[in-house]
Amino acid sequence: MFKNKKIYKIFIMSIFALILLFAAGCSNAAKEQTTETGSKFLMDTLVQMKVTGKNAEKVLNLSFDRIEELENLMSKTLKKSEIYKINHSSEPVEISDDTIKVLNKSIHYAELTSGRFDPSIGPLVELWGIGTEDARVPTEEEIAEAKKLVNYKNIEIDNNKVFLKQKDMQLDLGAIAKGYAADEVKRIAEENNIKSAFVNLGGNVLVIGHKADGSKWRIGIQDPRKNRGNIMAVIKAVDKTIVTSGNYERYFEKNGNIYHHIIDPATGYPADSGLLSVSIISESSFDADALSTSVFILGLEKGMEFIKDQKNVEVLFITEDLKVYLSPGLKGKVEITGEEFELIEGELSGN
Ligand code: ADP
Ligand code: MG
Repeated sequence: MFKNKKIYKIFIMSIFALILLFAAGCSNAAKEQTTETGSKFLMDTLVQMKVTGKNAEKVLNLSFDRIEELENLMSKTLKKSEIYKINHSSEPVEISDDTIKVLNKSIHYAELTSGRFDPSIGPLVELWGIGTEDARVPTEEEIAEAKKLVNYKNIEIDNNKVFLKQKDMQLDLGAIAKGYAADEVKRIAEENNIKSAFVNLGGNVLVIGHKADGSKWRIGIQDPRKNRGNIMAVIKAVDKTIVTSGNYERYFEKNGNIYHHIIDPATGYPADSGLLSVSIISESSFDADALSTSVFILGLEKGMEFIKDQKNVEVLFITEDLKVYLSPGLKGKVEITGEEFELIEGELSGN
């Protein structure tokens, strides 16, 4: 059949090559269906992920590595972090583009909120110690002293060099770093052709595309009075982030008062705006994280006004009397599942 051995050899090799190609094709097709889930304790919270696609496992690993890398840069407590170095240096410290980006975005929101959101909140956070063994109600004098150190205008940024102009000032990026990390997970997933994924960084939820079965993601809003996992509303979402700030995340109770971890620099006390939680729905988790903390401090009326000026950003408020208020773009899109909660329709009046 074959004129010479050489042609025969080429024929056999081609058949082998075809078989290999076919096998590779099959395994790729099979791989496309893989859904990988994983969780890891990072950035002081439980990070949960679910990724569907050909590169699911790779994306899971790359994402956890990247979050850990960001934690190592921006943690306030890890001695090797850039934030720790800035907080403990008497001269400018050169830092990475990642930390600069997060710091610049923080200063942007500090300016927009007239300093109610402030990345130099560190001394007040440390004084209250909420979430640590040293949590306590400080004295008026202590609060007044720590308050003097909180002022984002004293953060000097020159290219990648950062200097805190006032002695004992301290940066704390706890209100925004997880949002940046969530957007980084999104970037990694998209670079690896993932069309469906879910990530939850302790209240910073981000979804990519639809669920693997083609339906929309159903994101639960935490019931602020109950343990994690108990929800009071559901929002259907595709390619969105939902970030919640609440007074239940880290707090302690004394003499019937709840002291939580979102501090109002204007008073030096935990923000007392009549809210139990604020959820921001948008495309960027980075912005949404800064916004949820900002709006929690601003309260219902001012917060609603503030959100109206932000593009493609929606908000859900839960007040202390269990009323739920929505920004106009969310109307009709939220399913309230908690019986004791009352959805308030219509525009806010009185401002
Ligand atoms: P969580 O980190 O629980 O998801 P937030 O995003 O609202 O909640 O961030 C709260 C954290 O932000 C606090 O633990 C603290 O580190 C920091 N923080 C507290 N008050 C402020 C503030 N006024 N401005 C900026 N950051 C703050
Ligand atoms: Mg936040």
